[in-house]
Amino acid sequence: MIPMVNLKAQYAEIKEEVERGLAETIENCSFILGPNVQAFEKETAAYLGVKHAIGVASGTDALHLALIAEGIGAGDEVITTAFTFIATAEAIKYVGAIPVFVDIDPRTFNISPEAIEAAITPKTKAIMPVHLFGQPAELEEIVEICERNNLKLIEDCCQSFGASIDSKQTGAFGHAAGYSFFPSKNLGAFGDGGLVVTNSDETAAKIKQLRNHGSDVRYYHDVIGYNSRLDEMQAVILRAKLKRIDQYNQARRHVAHLYSELMADLPLITPYEDNVGEHVYHQYTLLSDRRDEILAALQAHQIGAAVYYPVPLHKQNVFKEECAGVSLPVTESVSEHCFSLPICPFLEDDTIREIVSVIRGVLTA
Ligand SMILES: *Cc1c(COP(=O)(O)O)cnc(C)c1O
Repeated sequence: MIPMVNLKAQYAEIKEEVERGLAETIENCSFILGPNVQAFEKETAAYLGVKHAIGVASGTDALHLALIAEGIGAGDEVITTAFTFIATAEAIKYVGAIPVFVDIDPRTFNISPEAIEAAITPKTKAIMPVHLFGQPAELEEIVEICERNNLKLIEDCCQSFGASIDSKQTGAFGHAAGYSFFPSKNLGAFGDGGLVVTNSDETAAKIKQLRNHGSDVRYYHDVIGYNSRLDEMQAVILRAKLKRIDQYNQARRHVAHLYSELMADLPLITPYEDNVGEHVYHQYTLLSDRRDEILAALQAHQIGAAVYYPVPLHKQNVFKEECAGVSLPVTESVSEHCFSLPICPFLEDDTIREIVSVIRGVLTA
C-alpha cells in the first residue's frame, strides 16, 4: 500500500522534539494562546517576510477573518477561481459577498490575470487567487490589477507554504493571506490550524480581536468575534516542522522532478512550472485522456491517487443555481482530465519508479 501522503515517516524525525514540547505544555497547562502560539507567530512572520502572523483555528477561518478585516461584505464581488477546494468560496459566502469565478491558465491551473481583468465590475472589491498545488499564481500581474482598480488582494496560500517569487513568499504580496495547517498540507499540524498574515497593523489588530470573541482585553468585547485560535498543542508540532520546511519542500520538488523525468516519453501532460516562482508541489497533478484507466490500475496495485478536483465550484450543487450562466471551458476540461499522484517529502525514488511503471503499463499496453 502506497498512500498519497506518508505522515508516519515524517513523525519519526520530529518525534522527540514534539513529545518534549507537548509534555511541557501539559505540565504548564497553558493551553490557549500560550507561549508556543506566540513563538510560532513570530517564527512564521520572520520566515514569510511579513509584519504580522496570527494563528487561527483553520485555513477556512483564516480566509474568512481576512475578508472581514479587509472590509469585504454583503453584495461585494470577489473574483476567484472555481478550480480549488470549496473553502476558498465558502469564506467569500460567509461575509455575504459574491464569488465571481473566472477561468484558469491551462498550463499552471492558476487563475488567469486576463480573465480577472475581464470580470471586474463596479461591485468588485477583492481578488482571491489560490496558489494551487503549490505553484505561485501570477502575482506580479494580479498586484498590478489590484492597484489599478483599487481592489484588495487576499491570497489563498493554503497549498503554498514556502512557495516564493524572487525570494518573496506567497502571502507577502497581498493585503492579507490565509494559510492552512490541515495535516496533509506542506506545513501540517496533527489536527486543524491556520494562519493569517498581513503587513497592515490595522488588519492584524482586527484579526487578533476577531479570533478571540471580539476582545482585546479579557471580558471586554468591541465587536462580535469568533472562537478561532490556533491550538497551543498544534503550535508545538508546527514549530518542529517549520524548522524543516525548506528541506520538506526541496524533497517534494525532487519527487516531482523525478516523476516528470520518468514520464517524459509518455502521452501525458506532466505539471508545468512557469518559473514565475518556486513551486512547492503540494500536489503532483497531471492530465490524461485515459485518467480513469490509470486510476483503476493504480488502485489495483494499492497505490494511492486522487482527483483534485473532480467538480469545479461553479458546477457544485451548492453553486449550480447561482452560477447557472457561468462557463469556464479550461477549468471544466482540466477537471475532467486531472489526477494527482502520491507526493510527500519521504517518498523514495524506488517507490516513484514503481508508481510510474504501473502508469507506463497502462499507456503502452
Ligand atoms: C485546505 C484548503 C483550504 C482550507 O483549509 P482548512 O484548514 O482545511 O480549513 C482552503 N483553500 C485551499 C485551496 C485549501 O487547499
